[in-house]
Amino acid sequence: MGAEVRMTDGNPTGHCSFCREPAVILDRGQRLCAGHLVAEVENRVRKDISEKGMVAPGDRLAVALSGGKDSTALLLVLSRLLPEGQDVTLTAITIDEGIAGYREETLHAAEKLTKELGITHRVLSFACIFGKPLDALVAGQQERGCTICGVLRRKALEEGAREIGATKLVTGHNADDEAQSVLMNLLRGDLTRLIQDSSSGDPEPFVPRIKPLAGITEKEVLAYLFIRGFYTDLPECPYAQPALRSEIREMLAGLEDRHPGTREALLQSRDVLRAHVALPPHGQLRACRECGGLSSGEICRACQILRSMGS
Ligand SMILES: [Zn+2]
Ligand SMILES: [Zn+2]
Repeated sequence: MGAEVRMTDGNPTGHCSFCREPAVILDRGQRLCAGHLVAEVENRVRKDISEKGMVAPGDRLAVALSGGKDSTALLLVLSRLLPEGQDVTLTAITIDEGIAGYREETLHAAEKLTKELGITHRVLSFACIFGKPLDALVAGQQERGCTICGVLRRKALEEGAREIGATKLVTGHNADDEAQSVLMNLLRGDLTRLIQDSSSGDPEPFVPRIKPLAGITEKEVLAYLFIRGFYTDLPECPYAQPALRSEIREMLAGLEDRHPGTREALLQSRDVLRAHVALPPHGQLRACRECGGLSSGEICRACQILRSMGS
């Protein structure tokens, strides 16, 4: 991992643009040492939260904590920016999908982290919410495991947030995830999700989502974790498989390398569209007829999946 964090543009003797310390990362044209990288990440998140009005006094935040890299960084940053006593409470929610031989490790990491930070932790399992663990739900159609899991996990998180009376659901999506989603929605012709996602202002009664790391790149997230001593290599999910997103991830990483600014341009295009394009009423997100969850059609995908499984 060390090699990946030391991205000094082929100049290992380079030092930080702000001090004499050795640089650990070249980012947005600036070389940053460990201390300045941490400060830069936290400052940018703080600024984003305040400029976009993500958090208001009295908010009760449900933080989606998978135990993976993005959500670990998210909780670390938030626990520094929103100390208790400022009228904002943090509760971490982990979904135990029920994937034998995989979930235990990330679940353990999530427990350890919340204990260390002194943050309340709730674990909700697919078995409790949907009646069966993921392994049993997808038996016989393992190739759809990743898709099914993603849809049901979203739903489980919403339920968890509602259960604790959260005013907002916080997720760890980073700038690269967001840019990938823009391209993915375009390639799928899904204008609804391109223009209106769950973070673009949910109508009641949905719990609004916020993404405080949306201005932080994956490279920065990894460097931040590494410097703060929370970087760990976790096992890969047995259901992970080549999907459109992984092709897009690779393509965008290559484009950003050769043409810096590509990611930012994609995100700006989305923001302009969101600000100026109105979707026709039938194209907007609405409440699912069966569960009341956020849906782009009459019945949400989670309900469709559960119905097809006879649950
Ligand atoms: Zn420095
Ligand atoms: Zn539904």
